[in-house]
Amino acid sequence: MNRLETLWKYQELDLQMDQYIMEKKNSDSRQKLLKIKNYLLKQEKNLLHMDDNADKKLDLLAKLEAEFNSLNDRIQAQLEKLKSDDVLSVQELEEITKEGLVLNDSIRKKEEELKRIRQEHENFQEKLDDIRRKVADAKNEYLDVKKDYDAEVKKINEELLKLKKQRDKIGEGISKSLLAKYKNIKASKSPVISLLTDNQCDGCFMSLASLVVKRVKDGNRIVECENCGRILYYREVEDDIPS
Ligand SMILES: [Zn+2]
Repeated sequence: MNRLETLWKYQELDLQMDQYIMEKKNSDSRQKLLKIKNYLLKQEKNLLHMDDNADKKLDLLAKLEAEFNSLNDRIQAQLEKLKSDDVLSVQELEEITKEGLVLNDSIRKKEEELKRIRQEHENFQEKLDDIRRKVADAKNEYLDVKKDYDAEVKKINEELLKLKKQRDKIGEGISKSLLAKYKNIKASKSPVISLLTDNQCDGCFMSLASLVVKRVKDGNRIVECENCGRILYYREVEDDIPS
């Protein structure tokens, strides 16, 4: 086997490995996991924010309740005064009645405000509970999908290991400098080796000068495509040989 044929075989296994690596990266379960993870991260932030808001609402509620109670106390105090045996002047009575009306009005308003804030808090709590439930569901789904994904990855990694062993075994028969050249090109483009087809580089489809074609066909040296930088290889395909 000449060195380019060896490198070609090396590349075949290398490309198969790439496919498995892509498969792993693009696997449905991996995409699903990423999606759930994103959702969970978003909801976590959301919940933190909502908890904060819920605390503020509770503080407001406590404040309103205190105000409401103090108004009630004042009304009670006035009622006590009216019920007592003290003799009140007309002016005192009028004042008490006037203040009573104002207090009543304030109490009604406070009650409405309390009702509104309580309702808001209740709705908010429902929303929070709903999100918490969804987050719990998403976490369970994540665990389920993760199991599938782990099984998939395990299978792929086994295949990859097998291919790597085969590839590296072939690599032992390739000179270090050629292998380094291969890896260097591979870092920016794949596949690395281009077949010479109809005097063209089949990596970039540029027509090659006849001198270049001759050099490639001779196979004495490594020739790179002037246009795309791939290693050119003239390979007589077995299918072309009539049987
Ligand atoms: Zn090319």
